Amino acid sequence: MDDLVMSVRERLPDRIARLADLAYNLWWSWHQDARELFRLLDYPLWRATLHNPVLILRQIPQERLEEAAKDPVFLRRYDAVLLAFDREMENGHLWFPGTFPDLTDRPIAYFSAEFGLHRSLPIYSGGLGVLAGDQAKEASDLGIPFVGVGFLYSQGYFRQRIPSHGWQEAVYPPLRIEETPLIPVRDEQGNPIRVRVQLAGREVQIAVWEVRVGRTRLYLMDTNLPENEPWDRTLTSRLYGGDREMRISQEVVLGVGGVRTLRALGIDPAVWHLNEGHCAFLVLERIREHVVAGMSFDEAAEAVRATTVFTTHTPVPAGHDAFALPMVEKHFLGYWEQLGLSREEFLELGRLDGPMGPEFNMTALALRFSGYRNGVSRLHGEVSRKMWHFLWPDRPVEEVPIIHITNGVHLPSWVSGPLDQLFRKYLGHDWQERHDDPDLWERLDEIPDEELWALHEDQKRKMMAFIRERARRRRISGEMDPDQVLAAGAFLDPEALTIGFARRFATYKRATLIFHDLERLKRIIHDLYRPVQFIFAGKAHPADDAGKHLLQQVYALAKDPAMGGRIAFIEDYDMHVARYLVQGVDVWLNTPRRPNEASGTSGQKAAMNGVINLSVLDGWWAEGYNGANGWAVDPLEDADPAVQDGHDAEALYRLLEEEVVPLFYKRDIDGIPRGWVRLMKESIRSIAPIFCTRRMVKEYAERFYVPAARASQSR
Ligand SMILES: *Cc1c(COP(=O)(O)O)cnc(C)c1O
Repeated sequence: MDDLVMSVRERLPDRIARLADLAYNLWWSWHQDARELFRLLDYPLWRATLHNPVLILRQIPQERLEEAAKDPVFLRRYDAVLLAFDREMENGHLWFPGTFPDLTDRPIAYFSAEFGLHRSLPIYSGGLGVLAGDQAKEASDLGIPFVGVGFLYSQGYFRQRIPSHGWQEAVYPPLRIEETPLIPVRDEQGNPIRVRVQLAGREVQIAVWEVRVGRTRLYLMDTNLPENEPWDRTLTSRLYGGDREMRISQEVVLGVGGVRTLRALGIDPAVWHLNEGHCAFLVLERIREHVVAGMSFDEAAEAVRATTVFTTHTPVPAGHDAFALPMVEKHFLGYWEQLGLSREEFLELGRLDGPMGPEFNMTALALRFSGYRNGVSRLHGEVSRKMWHFLWPDRPVEEVPIIHITNGVHLPSWVSGPLDQLFRKYLGHDWQERHDDPDLWERLDEIPDEELWALHEDQKRKMMAFIRERARRRRISGEMDPDQVLAAGAFLDPEALTIGFARRFATYKRATLIFHDLERLKRIIHDLYRPVQFIFAGKAHPADDAGKHLLQQVYALAKDPAMGGRIAFIEDYDMHVARYLVQGVDVWLNTPRRPNEASGTSGQKAAMNGVINLSVLDGWWAEGYNGANGWAVDPLEDADPAVQDGHDAEALYRLLEEEVVPLFYKRDIDGIPRGWVRLMKESIRSIAPIFCTRRMVKEYAERFYVPAARASQSR
């Protein structure tokens, strides 16, 4: 056992020693009974550590542990949780081994620049990372042999601070490994593993950390080692930080280093899945392996294609990673010979002629060397086929080989604890095991309106208590000025219709659209009988000044007493904040400029918790909206942006005034908004079984992983 784990375990009385096993496997994070166990162990610490079992076990007083080890109530729960944990780790009757028993030996390797697993591991920035994290959890639930490969960012993604003037500041607290479930990977002699890659002629060493995510493992690479040059040590400091030179170096480490990491661990994947283009250099390293072993370049490329899956996430050309050719040349000097290629042939592999001339484009590279390709919603599939049509010029656009597999969210991670209890009561105690079966959800009607509504109101109060407590702490610690208290949401009204808008502050998401006509908005929010309030949250990328400007505008309005304390801005959006918001607001708002939202997933998290979507028909909502499960804005396309904004804002106001607000406030004699609760049920019923990772990962397995793994077997 590793020293890090050992130092936690040493403190634990024998009877409850396996709390360490639970804390060091994120399995606990999506199992309500395991969460409950840590909450029960020390509730104040559970809250103070922002739900971090490793930290709880380090900080909890010894007496408290001794007490727990003698407490029959605690012990009964402890035994039950461990029984469930052990049973699942044994892989008894899970879907994948049950359905494809011949394919359980070799894993799917899933490469991603970010993974959003839990707040305590800040190695994600937004939707792309959360999707990767949800995918890893779902792979565990389904019994898919799966390893993730990514980075351990020593400073993570930034923490957001908003001063009174509203211009976001980025803070980078160093990650304290001992407060995370990270475990260093060692070789058979017990020495930490070191992997080597060449970066523009220098050798860089990589350490590897393991994260346990149920039955699956993630391997995170880290170059912050004394053996490396100072600049190379910072390669894995920050997610999406630095300049182009930093970015290409990171991507060499991710792609080439990632393949070598798996080799060093003795892992031989059957299938390789690229989550977005950042990791696409991995196809080159795999071709190199084959060529070194005696294949021609063309044979090697064919072998790689047959076993490579690529998921693209970006519907705008500028969003795709590309490098100047000389930069790529510098990094791969001496490499193309090993592929059996000339310099010119090598540069052709990723070449794309952009507006600034020829570039090495990571998406083009990935598309050319993967046999299985997809976008992340139906609409995004169409957009991608159009966008990349020129790579298959002899085919009609509808036959461009990029399909779509629509994103989903990991239900057990995002459904609130009380709602899980309610579903157990009315849908069956095993509802989670069958949650992608639409028939299961027909039973929602059996839940009494009163019960669902009371639960929702509880979640809403809980969210507001969380927001108030944050504001209180920030204020008393002196980090927040008095004039910021209003903006922090301290005076939100638990009875008012509450609309949430939380996501990255990328400009295409149009966070300020709702403020298009300020007077009209004021009339809506200040209605004496039917008040409306908004909760905003989100980070702008540190280099995105346009996004920071939008954020500042929202923040100025949140601070403005004229808005009556009915606009709140919650600082430092992350998965922890996201959980409270998607479980606690009444309506989830999204206003992207179509077709820029490839999928979007936060609205799916909201829907499963009975929160109603009000969104532009873009991304997943363009196929999720069925006319009766929320509200849709049909946006104006192909027009001047200002005209689009005017049109879309008008549609939004009309929906709010004529439909959303009246329905929310239409109560019966018992104070229940029957029509609203009906909408909540329809939203859950129609969205939960489809827009979940259970459906999504099964689709990846059946359409991509299984055929690719069979191809791999037959070689
Ligand atoms: C789910 C999630 C996202 C993605 O939200 P979108 O609606 O897809 O933009 C981003 N950040 C966090 C913290 C999330 O939990």
